Amino acid sequence: MSYVRQLKCRECGETFPLEPISICEYCFGPLEVDYDYAAIRSSVTREGIAAGPKTMWRYRDLLPVESEQPVDLGTGFTPLLRADNLGRRLGIDHLYLKNDSVNPTFSFKDRVVSVSVSKALEFGFRTVACASTGNLSASVAAHAAKAGLECYIFIPADLEHSKIVGTAVYGPNLVAVEGNYDEVNRLSSEVADKYGWAFVNINLRPFYSEGSKTLAFETAEQLGWRLPDHVVAPMAGGSVLTKIWKGFRELAAVGLVEPRDTRFSGAQAHGCSPIVTAYKAGAENITPVKPRTIAKSLAIGNPADGYYALRTIRNTGGAAEEVNDAEIVEGIKLLASTEGIFTETAGGVTVAVLTKLAAAGRFRPQETVVAYITGNGLKTVEALEGHLPEVRPIPPTLSSFEGQILKHTA
Ligand SMILES: *Cc1c(COP(=O)(O)O)cnc(C)c1O
Ligand SMILES: [Zn+2]
Repeated sequence: MSYVRQLKCRECGETFPLEPISICEYCFGPLEVDYDYAAIRSSVTREGIAAGPKTMWRYRDLLPVESEQPVDLGTGFTPLLRADNLGRRLGIDHLYLKNDSVNPTFSFKDRVVSVSVSKALEFGFRTVACASTGNLSASVAAHAAKAGLECYIFIPADLEHSKIVGTAVYGPNLVAVEGNYDEVNRLSSEVADKYGWAFVNINLRPFYSEGSKTLAFETAEQLGWRLPDHVVAPMAGGSVLTKIWKGFRELAAVGLVEPRDTRFSGAQAHGCSPIVTAYKAGAENITPVKPRTIAKSLAIGNPADGYYALRTIRNTGGAAEEVNDAEIVEGIKLLASTEGIFTETAGGVTVAVLTKLAAAGRFRPQETVVAYITGNGLKTVEALEGHLPEVRPIPPTLSSFEGQILKHTA
């Protein structure tokens, strides 16, 4: 049993039955899942949620899945860590990090995929697929393996080595395309039209994107059922930032938290920053770009939800900022050396933008700030090549330890 009512167009409000569709046939606006919030309000409680599984599925009443057995690898309920060392360094009084690099396939994408692959099974699909910038690929392949579904993964051919290995290991049909993500996405749309497979981020997108709301739900619960003052999130297609906002709004709407005007700030890499560029130019619409950045998981030049992410940032009074490749590497190292968390390049973008926003005085005294660390550092080790001290082997003798190591560190 679920509280889902229908799909609804974000733009014109037209409603549609719950089917694998993503675009309004009247105005081409994106479709969103619509719930019976009054019914949720009268039956869902903090205690009930707390008694649920220690995964994202403790919030199933606010997710668009009917079946009792979602396809679950144990995703979510990841740590929300107080980051006092980093906070002190940056001058942020109350800084928290949502560490989503510890999910089953080591990125936040497991949240959106657990929902969308469950939905694919409910709709009766036998084949799931995706266009990926690297993290989605591993997650879809892993969930397809668990669900016993046929799987096709479309990736740009120049992806990081560990992302290719970390996808191929689950045994999908892995299609490396000579082109960037936006070209991979275009090909995937054609395949989706022709073969009718469940592309999790294309025809199942309304269901897929709902999974990101669990980042908001967990944050609120882990803060003691309280919303933060300010969040900083990375942006590729712009979906996760928008859905964290939706998640906070829903919690307030169903009476699980007090409403709060949380400000949303978005982070992009300089080599692919169409949303930040529009924000800084005061533009309404987003001009697509050709990506060139080490933050490959954020390299979407034509962001599907960019318009909504931009609006969320503006309407909440947040900011959008970008950082270059050198700053991304510094961000990765700063997070690791202050908080003991090794993140991939997308997390480097988030931490470097956090640094920049703090230096610009964007955080107010005593604010609670939450930054989202969305992927694991072992996925992009090549980004650190040449940026860490060289390790030279020594002979197995005390004198060489003292002569070659202690002498230099004392
Ligand atoms: C996909 C991804 C994002 C951004 O997601 P969007 O919802 O497309 O903005 C952020 N971080 C990581 C690690 C990702 O893989
Ligand atoms: Zn419409």
